[in-house]
Amino acid sequence: MSTNADMRAPVQFLKGCGAARAQLLEKLGVRTVRDLLFFFPRQYDDLTELRAIGELEEGQPATVLATVEEVELRQRGTGRSVVGMLVRQADQFLQVLWFDQPFQAERFRQGQQVLLSGKVKQHAARWQMIHPQAKPIAPDGTPPAGELLPVYPLTQGLAQRHVRQLVQRALEAGIEGLEEVFPREYLAQHNLLPLATALPWIHFPPDLDSLAAARRRFVYQELLVLQLALALKRFEFRRGEAALRLADSARIDARIRRLFPFELTAAQNAAIAEIAADLAQTQPMNRLLQGDVGSGKTVVAAYLMLLAVAHGAQAVLMAPTEILARQHHETLGALLAASRVKLGLLTGAVTGKAREELVGQVAAGEIQILIGTQAVVEEELAFARLALVVIDEQHKFGVRQRSRLKHGGGQPHYLVMTATPIPRTVGMTLFGDLDVTTLAGAPPGRQPVHTYLPPPEDRARWWEFFRKKLREGRQGYVITPLVAGGEDTQVANLEATFEELANGELEAFRLNLVHGRMSAAQKDAAMSSFRAGQTQVLVATSVVEVGVDVPNATLMTVQSADRFGLAQLHQLRGRVSRGSHPGFCCLFADDPSPAGQQRLQALVDSHDGFALAETDFALRGPGDLLGTQQHGLPPLRIADLAADAAVLEEARRDARELVALDPGLQQPEHALLRRMALVRYSHALELGDVG
Ligand code: ADP
Ligand code: MG
Repeated sequence: MSTNADMRAPVQFLKGCGAARAQLLEKLGVRTVRDLLFFFPRQYDDLTELRAIGELEEGQPATVLATVEEVELRQRGTGRSVVGMLVRQADQFLQVLWFDQPFQAERFRQGQQVLLSGKVKQHAARWQMIHPQAKPIAPDGTPPAGELLPVYPLTQGLAQRHVRQLVQRALEAGIEGLEEVFPREYLAQHNLLPLATALPWIHFPPDLDSLAAARRRFVYQELLVLQLALALKRFEFRRGEAALRLADSARIDARIRRLFPFELTAAQNAAIAEIAADLAQTQPMNRLLQGDVGSGKTVVAAYLMLLAVAHGAQAVLMAPTEILARQHHETLGALLAASRVKLGLLTGAVTGKAREELVGQVAAGEIQILIGTQAVVEEELAFARLALVVIDEQHKFGVRQRSRLKHGGGQPHYLVMTATPIPRTVGMTLFGDLDVTTLAGAPPGRQPVHTYLPPPEDRARWWEFFRKKLREGRQGYVITPLVAGGEDTQVANLEATFEELANGELEAFRLNLVHGRMSAAQKDAAMSSFRAGQTQVLVATSVVEVGVDVPNATLMTVQSADRFGLAQLHQLRGRVSRGSHPGFCCLFADDPSPAGQQRLQALVDSHDGFALAETDFALRGPGDLLGTQQHGLPPLRIADLAADAAVLEEARRDARELVALDPGLQQPEHALLRRMALVRYSHALELGDVG
């Protein structure tokens, strides 16, 4: 077992692994000896500290070294059994039970020393462990001074000790056949353990420091491979067909600015300068513009699209929904009323002759700025001279669907806009192949939304306030969460809320509802009637989260607010800060726990979406942000984007450096890294034949 080929041998090749066990392992994705070696523990039982039976604590895990007093196997009904073992330390006793594991009775003899590890419970005045990890200590053997036992993910029928045993065998058989990914100097420079040390230690760490070092090596490797894949993607994109150069000039700049009814903020100017520098290159741009709701991204995009128009080229702005596309069309229409720039709107609702005509105008280059939905992509529009694609609220599209537009001229530049505050490390992963511009702050005059978290007994007062504002002419939202149990329950929940309010707190007002189960036309109708002011209160699920502007809506009640993430709540309340009146948002929480309250309190205290996203991330982890359906990235096996943020930064820097020095990773010492990046990510990232 010391050649490469042996590593690819099926696990069954290992002593003690029969066909049945091999099949169970296969369920866990382990087929070969190599797979098994890279099947990492999900945690470790810490046997470092031995406990005296007299010091055990109810419900806590502990490790105990004791002497076997008696072992007994009892049958209990057909085929069922229980093994009871009594162990002793001086005058203290502990009882151990194994159900339906008769073989345990064979493992231990009276008088033998045994090491037990598991959760302890008090039962009938005696300490008890059920199904502990147990290991006989040879008479002449010294008990382990401190040991970390690996805990592997399991599947029905596969026992922890089987996996441990097989991993042990695989390690003993020799791992010389495994290729080291990193050159020796690289390991030294980056403070990484060699594979030959890290692999045994990740499974059977001699102590916590060794474990940390071994883990660091594999976390780094995993994140580096991911970042390399993203860097390769970036390289591939930039190396593609050349883009049109859209250089800015003082003359163009003055002409564009004249169109805006306000001065751009310093933050907007900085973002424009950064992006325009990219657009002045023939290398196509692929950039993310992130900024909180209302930070002024759309205006930045408008500037850049006008820059394309100034060069006789076309730009397209894609929105995730019909209503948002129309909203953008209106906003830009108003902005450009004084200019001769020709806008077009293409959505699923534009059909027949109108559509044909529009498609013709796009192809002829008569339409200079096209605003649309997914329909733009599906239509396979041919543009006369497309230079810039702006995608609003990117994450709603899924990351990897951007480059399907046919374009005349060259490859278009891409600008993706998102207001979804995501933690830095998640962004570096989801959007790791993009360059990032952040739009900080907000345009003058925008006021933070007053946010309240009242105790239940004060809710009536909130509704009183809500009604007062409605009577003053304002409008409001009532948001109910996505309820577990499928969409039907969700809708039922929403409808129940609607009924309750319509016959209770808000009975004097015109209510309507909107949710994801409705058809696009129904949703649109509901939103339109709300925008027009016919509906005063809209009862909705979080479908209103994305970008809809109703300046007169200044009130929001969020029910069961604790079911939402902080970042999402922040986006939701952004809906009531679109106009000149101050916005008010009231969070009703179900979860009375101090931790739950504290989490929501962060929203009352902070209006910085990105800071809230970080807080949420630290408290709740990445959640479905990396969800495979949504983004298609395979899950990380060992790295944790929250805990390993520092290593991620390091891996990203190193990956970009490597790809800068060796574009396409062509050098032989990078061949293995390159292959790993392609094997794992070429599908998800649509990496072509890089290099
Ligand atoms: P975002 O797209 O980031 O949500 P918008 O570009 O829609 O933000 O801008 C939010 C609001 O602020 C819009 O009503 C817009 O007209 C206004 N706005 C944007 N930039 C400025 C500015 N520099 N000065 C004043 N108002 C601005
Ligand atoms: Mg916007």
